[in-house]
Amino acid sequence: MVKIPGFVYLLIGVVVAGYSQFAPNSDMPFFNIFFYIGIVFIFWGVVKMIFSPSKRREKTLEHQEKTSGIIFCPRCNAKNFSYSRFCHMCKYKLR
Ligand SMILES: [Zn+2]
Repeated sequence: MVKIPGFVYLLIGVVVAGYSQFAPNSDMPFFNIFFYIGIVFIFWGVVKMIFSPSKRREKTLEHQEKTSGIIFCPRCNAKNFSYSRFCHMCKYKLR
């Protein structure tokens, strides 16, 4: 899948929906379709912007875990083996 940032969808949506409203033939039923397509794009863009950053963070953590076998404790930042359930320094629950 090609990665398109959420704001690109948002921009396309605004342009399409805006154009359909201000175009010379905007009272034609045909243009309503463009308006709804624009709304869908705006909605999808917002959804993407809300959900993509956390997903990316999860992926890098997963990647780090798989490649090095070492994870960092979120509380004390101590190095721990990826299979350990608790931090060996502060006993923070890692999973
Ligand atoms: Zn710790």
